Amino acid sequence: MGIFEVGISKPDEMEKLENIFHPQIGLLTHIGTAHLANFKSEEDLINEKIKLFKDSEVIIYNGDNILVDKKLKALYSSKKLISYGFKQDNQVYFKRNIPKEENVVVQYFGEELSFPVHQRDEATLTNALALLTVLKELGLENKKIVEKINALKAVEMRLEAIEGIKNNIIINDSFNLDLDSLKTALQFLNEYNKQKKSLVLTDILGVNSNSEELYHEVSELVNEQKFDFVFLIGHEISKYSELFKAKTFTFINTQELIDSKHLTEIENQIILLKGARKFEIEKLKDILELRKHDTVLEINLNAILHNINFHKSLLKPTTKMMAMVKANAYGLGSYEVSEFLQHHHIDYLGVAFADEGVELRKKGITVPIVVMNPEQHSYETIIAYNLEPEIYSFRVLELFYQAVKKSGYDKKYPIHIKLETGMHRLGFKDFELKELSQTLHHKNLKVQSIFSHLSSSDVPSEKEFTLHQLEIFEKNSGNLIKMLGYTPVRHILNSSGITSYTNHQYDMVRIGIGMLGESPNSEIKKQLRSVVSFKTVISQISVVENGESVGYSRKFKTDHPTKIATIPVGYADGIPRLIGNQVGNVGIHKTLVPIVGNICMDMMMINIDEISNVKEGDTVTVFNAKPTLKEFADYCKTITYEVLTSISPRVKRIYVKD
Ligand SMILES: *Cc1c(COP(=O)(O)O)cnc(C)c1O
Repeated sequence: MGIFEVGISKPDEMEKLENIFHPQIGLLTHIGTAHLANFKSEEDLINEKIKLFKDSEVIIYNGDNILVDKKLKALYSSKKLISYGFKQDNQVYFKRNIPKEENVVVQYFGEELSFPVHQRDEATLTNALALLTVLKELGLENKKIVEKINALKAVEMRLEAIEGIKNNIIINDSFNLDLDSLKTALQFLNEYNKQKKSLVLTDILGVNSNSEELYHEVSELVNEQKFDFVFLIGHEISKYSELFKAKTFTFINTQELIDSKHLTEIENQIILLKGARKFEIEKLKDILELRKHDTVLEINLNAILHNINFHKSLLKPTTKMMAMVKANAYGLGSYEVSEFLQHHHIDYLGVAFADEGVELRKKGITVPIVVMNPEQHSYETIIAYNLEPEIYSFRVLELFYQAVKKSGYDKKYPIHIKLETGMHRLGFKDFELKELSQTLHHKNLKVQSIFSHLSSSDVPSEKEFTLHQLEIFEKNSGNLIKMLGYTPVRHILNSSGITSYTNHQYDMVRIGIGMLGESPNSEIKKQLRSVVSFKTVISQISVVENGESVGYSRKFKTDHPTKIATIPVGYADGIPRLIGNQVGNVGIHKTLVPIVGNICMDMMMINIDEISNVKEGDTVTVFNAKPTLKEFADYCKTITYEVLTSISPRVKRIYVKD
């Protein structure tokens, strides 16, 4: 089954799309105002939209729109039409007057269904009805449907409620802005019991209708809500500030509003951020959001996606990709990273141990997962959770096969054969392959893939050795395939293999550090985005008098009165003690400052004598842009991999999508 969202903005576009999709089930959710300007009337827009259902067997639609109802019935009387909505003459509708704390009740033809819905605004409720009707039509059981509705996540930047500083609640709806979504957002405010409220609102873009009329309508909607403060951003809307009854301020852009400091003075209110994408008012969220942790590892998921896509762009479109999420996804958070990758259609995930795979399965990851280090006590778990082991020796092969037999698994269990080609870590050697293929013939196992690992793809001076490894892999995997009589997937390239030995991509590659924006090749590195930012804040600033000392064992002594800041990270957070005493630096206001004295367990001191305007509470960068992760790894005399996997679990991981 495929689900496609189809949108149009101009007349005559739908016919082309209908030709592509021919949907069996058509769902018409909502007739918005976004592109109305390109049509003569709403009726014309509806006529255009419903062309999509020319060949559909079933059409499900929001019947609260009378015109839609009339048009569909007139044009498609021979099809199965199902209307849903708030009005009782729909076939599917909400029962009225259900108290907020109780489940909502839906009348579905003759049947009553009840389920919880976390948000009760009109948009969420109608979406739930649409979903329910489609699932019913697909024949799902009620229990499954309720499960699915429960699993609906709030869409980011669309009416997301966040705890703010100064006891405010921030409603972030900065994804798009048109009249309908403004109505929905304003309605959403009534869900909250805050007496006072403020609004940030931008120009409405992409409408060429009469803007005076438009902003009159906007102001009427807004005035109904009795806001305390209204902040208008953009030239257009600012022209009409007089129309707003609240205390109203106007700004050219979002930065101007930030600089005005108006927002950070608001207390105990609900603040709605509603803007067109272009104005980037989600920046306001960063300022208004209550941060619960001073020291954080911030992981930018969209940067991971960028880096994956960059590596993909070097490969053939058919080459599969396995993402290595071993060791808690290089320290970043196994589930969060895997969930994101699954959403973006990664083909395979690779973990080190069975436990890591089990955690992912329990949290709903369904992508195939390879366990690189299947410990012998974990075979049963591997089978129970549908994980796929790396098989690197006869001993493991035999033991795993016994476990498969014992489990009663009745199909061919997928395994991955590791070949030794020069790394001298794990794997079958060339003289073992004949016996291997013979053994495999007798067993109810399926070789899903044959692979090996490059020891030095990141070391240009070892190119000859790497080519030799690749040659051995070509020969041995080829022989094994001949003897097996079928063709499993082959793969050998890790991240720097993808960029340096692209021709040897076979059917799949395994990306790890490249996903996180690191590459030994500076040209490649320039095209990747940095993913991880390790940040904290200054706890205290003191001026240490001339001749005094700082920290344990008095390792740093001042020769003049020196401004010293203490920050709440130490070696227990994963900062190696050996980068104290001016070996390592951290960044403040984009300047590098040295770590002075010995690093303590939970804290360290830095010399900020050279920079002005620093105050307690200011952000300190352990690594991200300045110093970079690579520079930080250099201070530690190690590689970026070790830095990332050493960051203590007590450092809060935060996921952003910039
Ligand atoms: C970790 C690992 C990778 C990924 O290596 P990167 O250098 O991070 O790309 C690939 N293959 C195997 C077998 C690994 O263990």
